[in-house]
Amino acid sequence: MSAASEPVYDAIVIGAGPTGLACAIEIQQRDLSVILLEKGCLTNSLYHYPPHMTFFTTPELLEIGNLPMTSLNEKPNRTEALKYYRRVTQYFRLDVRQYERADRIEGQDGDFHVWTSHRVGRTGHHRARKIVLSTGYYDLPNLLDIPGEALSKVMHYYREPHPYWDMDVAVIGGKNSAAIASLELFWAGARVTLIHREPQLSNSIKYWIKPNIENRLKKGEIAGYLSSTVEDITEDCIRVRTPDGEKWLKNDFVFALIGYHPDIEFLRHMGIEFDPATRRPKTNPDTLESDRPGVYLAGVLVAGMHTNEIFIENGRFHGAQIAKDMERRLTGHP
Ligand code: NAP
Repeated sequence: MSAASEPVYDAIVIGAGPTGLACAIEIQQRDLSVILLEKGCLTNSLYHYPPHMTFFTTPELLEIGNLPMTSLNEKPNRTEALKYYRRVTQYFRLDVRQYERADRIEGQDGDFHVWTSHRVGRTGHHRARKIVLSTGYYDLPNLLDIPGEALSKVMHYYREPHPYWDMDVAVIGGKNSAAIASLELFWAGARVTLIHREPQLSNSIKYWIKPNIENRLKKGEIAGYLSSTVEDITEDCIRVRTPDGEKWLKNDFVFALIGYHPDIEFLRHMGIEFDPATRRPKTNPDTLESDRPGVYLAGVLVAGMHTNEIFIENGRFHGAQIAKDMERRLTGHP
């Protein structure tokens, strides 16, 4: 398509998770044109969550576009959420370009150019007056930065326990992911060792999970090393620094469930500035526009490294803030 005939959208939303979808709905409802670019499938991060996960929250707190979400139980599971977001996307006829990664964004407020690459290698180009980044954080796990972390037995995502039956499995971390994975692995017959750098597990572990993991540790059913860090990983062992000295433990698999972080480098390339301590990008708190004019940030991106501040439950409201400002700026509507 020649540059002259190429459509210029009012907005391109990058990332089609719940937050990005909520942004696109709000933008579209103000009669502005919008497409979403998503490097994977719709709600790609949710898709990659453990298949049997149950949300910590009730369905109404996951709703977007004022469309009711229902669940068989008190809290919805991943399958119900995936179905809900597919239905929402169809209902609002959102234009989601799946498997199209935004590689580069150039231009300025009113005239942005987004270069993309498709799953099959083809490249693409889109134009828009405004950009919304809602790329989440689940793609980039925090790293231990220790020898052996690159071995294939070390994983930063937990899905399900079956492959680890009768295996020696270490879980690193002290919050919800580490607690849930440790319990599921133990129930499925893995020999689990939980290693956490703090003297106790976090109080942010949900109240219906915490006593369970603590009791398994107390009974020795799950081995626990608190105030301890893994220093080295080899093919069949890990070296752990504990308050009682260094220990080598037999080990088949490691789950380093130590959190995730937004793609700070991509934002930096976009020319967005950060608070050096928190890596929180500079945004206008009322409009969520970044310090690069015309580029808005939505969802967990706004929080920098403080990823425990923003979830689907509050990130879904960013769309209204952004769309209101976008409408005012593009149409002069007060
Ligand atoms: P997280 O909440 O960020 O916790 C990371 C844990 O890893 C913390 O205990 C942290 O220790 C530790 N850690 C971080 N860097 C480390 C390092 N370099 N070395 C050793 N330990 C390190 O991550 P998460 O548990 O994966 O949870 C991520 C998000 O998903 C949270 O919002 C959580 O609520 C959510 N989640 C939801 C569900 C669900 O809905 N069913 C399930 C699981 C998780 P410190 O405590 O010292 O910082």
